[in-house]
Amino acid sequence: MKNIFLCAINNILSGNCNEDCKFCTQSVRYKADINRYNYKDINQIVKEAKIAKESGALGYCLVTAGKGLDDKKVEFVAKVAKRIKSSVDGLNLIACNGTANKEQLLYLKKNGIDSYNHNLETSEEFYKTICTTHSWQERYQTCEDIKSVGLDLCTGGIFGMGESQKDRDELIKAFSSLKPESTPLNFYHPNPSLPIKASNITTNEAIEIIKKSRQLLGDDKLLMVAGGRELLFQNNERLMFEAGANAIVIGNYLTTKGQSPIKDKDIIKNIGYTIATSC
Ligand code: SF4
Repeated sequence: MKNIFLCAINNILSGNCNEDCKFCTQSVRYKADINRYNYKDINQIVKEAKIAKESGALGYCLVTAGKGLDDKKVEFVAKVAKRIKSSVDGLNLIACNGTANKEQLLYLKKNGIDSYNHNLETSEEFYKTICTTHSWQERYQTCEDIKSVGLDLCTGGIFGMGESQKDRDELIKAFSSLKPESTPLNFYHPNPSLPIKASNITTNEAIEIIKKSRQLLGDDKLLMVAGGRELLFQNNERLMFEAGANAIVIGNYLTTKGQSPIKDKDIIKNIGYTIATSC
């Protein structure tokens, strides 16, 4: 029987990024109608981590908007990680804070971070059309550095931003080449304020992406359907699990609402799968 892993996200610094990623509502350039705030209160973050754990999450991802880590940010994330580790049992802590150097990554590891998420987003070729303020190579390098300091690597990307089939295959090949422990597959969620106006992906294409990813990543890795799940798989969740996914994000995403964790857990149980209780 298939065991499904649940992961939750906390946007601990939101919406004040100067980069120009054309898929991202957190870039200040596109003036998307989202909640923007500086560092969230640590007590509140710990409270939310407890709720996520009680809802069944095993993975807890601490996300900050922005290109990458700086001294202040790394200190804050480390402080949050330490507090969560001492107050909530059994959560695998993932940091998602953009580009990072080895020193910063090691510091986070020392303070309780287990895994670092940094997505390649799309193929190296297509990346130039969706972001001009930093490079794909820089992203790839951060992924290699994550592994080299002994943190678990979580990397994947976004599909449906206007890329070609070749770009999709290249992206799958690229993240698989890094041998990540977990891979989030996101499906583009259009927002009227963003330069990419529509998604170019169908449910059947998403299923093929999951199958190909599973094939290249291997059976022992986490393959997660993350953002855009509700757009493509609502009432058809069985299809994504049968294609090879074994993890989902529960609760809200960074700037879009998800469905209730209770509903997600009911869906998984009704299909006949179990919910993982340890990593
Ligand atoms: S760097 Fe990150 S937060 Fe900033 S615009 Fe790009 S994806 Fe969004």
